[in-house]
Amino acid sequence: MILDIIEQPIIQAVYARVKDAKHVVVCTHMSPDGDAMGSSLAIYHYLQALYAANRQDTSINVIVPNNFPNFLAWMPAAEAIVVCDAEEEKAAKLISQADLIIATDFNDPKRVGMMGSMILNNSCCKLMIDHHLYPTDFASISISFPQACSASEMVFRLVYQLQRMYNLPEHLIGDDVATCIYTGMMTDTGNFSYNSNDPAIYQIVSKLLEKGVNKDLIYNNVFNQFSEDRMRLMGYCLHKKMRIFPEHHTAFISLTRKELYAFNFQSGDAEGIVNLPLQISGIHYSCFMREDKVLPGDNHKDGVGKNKVKISFRSQGDRPVNIFAQEVFNGGGHANAAGGEFYGPISEAVKLFMSEYPKYFNK
Ligand code: 5GP
Ligand code: MN
Repeated sequence: MILDIIEQPIIQAVYARVKDAKHVVVCTHMSPDGDAMGSSLAIYHYLQALYAANRQDTSINVIVPNNFPNFLAWMPAAEAIVVCDAEEEKAAKLISQADLIIATDFNDPKRVGMMGSMILNNSCCKLMIDHHLYPTDFASISISFPQACSASEMVFRLVYQLQRMYNLPEHLIGDDVATCIYTGMMTDTGNFSYNSNDPAIYQIVSKLLEKGVNKDLIYNNVFNQFSEDRMRLMGYCLHKKMRIFPEHHTAFISLTRKELYAFNFQSGDAEGIVNLPLQISGIHYSCFMREDKVLPGDNHKDGVGKNKVKISFRSQGDRPVNIFAQEVFNGGGHANAAGGEFYGPISEAVKLFMSEYPKYFNK
């Protein structure tokens, strides 16, 4: 079966740990995106259904380092998520009491801010389900497939294999599970416009649709719910801020805190802006940076609340941006979608970008 890419002993180990667990915590990365939310909530719904079917009294909590954007708040059970930087004590207690921690859409404890040390301090079994390069070895069981379009795709493959290996009732993959998985796959591929040539993706989508996923509604919920401020911010970026470097096929946008404030910036408002310049003919690389704050757990000498610059990169085709993100901005990611951080004034981050990008972005 083309969808079975996880080795059997891994599936067996996952099932044994899941069955024995009494307190499960599912966690995902800082500034959760659609795939982070989709993969973690899909696990949540699947395990709820599995434990209910087994009449097993196991608690499951999804914990995220900081808040998720409004355009994902409609996702089933989003309201039950514990946001660590808003409820730190509760999150710390749940993580310390967990006997199984499932980490989705990240492969390095550095990506979860202050939750990293909470997770590492608990010696319980950890299961990682991810699709980023260079996994670190913090997990006891690793399901790491960088070729997958999303962590949500890997959650699908995992539950699909579990179902058949253990002959589990079909209803365990219900419409909530399917909706969350679809949302993650859709958002991490830009509605199936990049990183989405694998035919297996569409087999999975087909199975999700059979489970009752309303893909048109999900598209509308995610992509057509901007605030007026966010739409005007986008216009401002394109009209006033976008710089084009034709000889390097590169576009660049930066925003200061003052500019963000002028548009009543909310978490999630920057999502997708970095992709826009790629619509210009001849533009193959795009960089977007904005001022941000050092968060608890960023573990930086400048301290919480100090200036930090959040940087996003996108590209098309065989033009990796993750190497640049890693080497110049201490980040990483996928070949066509990567990000990084800079601690200091945004003017310095811009200078660094300007001096380095021609070495990396040139075809
Ligand atoms: P975005 O630009 O949407 O914030 O991030 C795109 C991708 O880049 C993410 O899926 C993630 O893989 C990666 N990424 C973003 N920021 C960072 C970072 O600071 N460090 C690392 N290692 N990867 C990042
Ligand atoms: Mn992802």
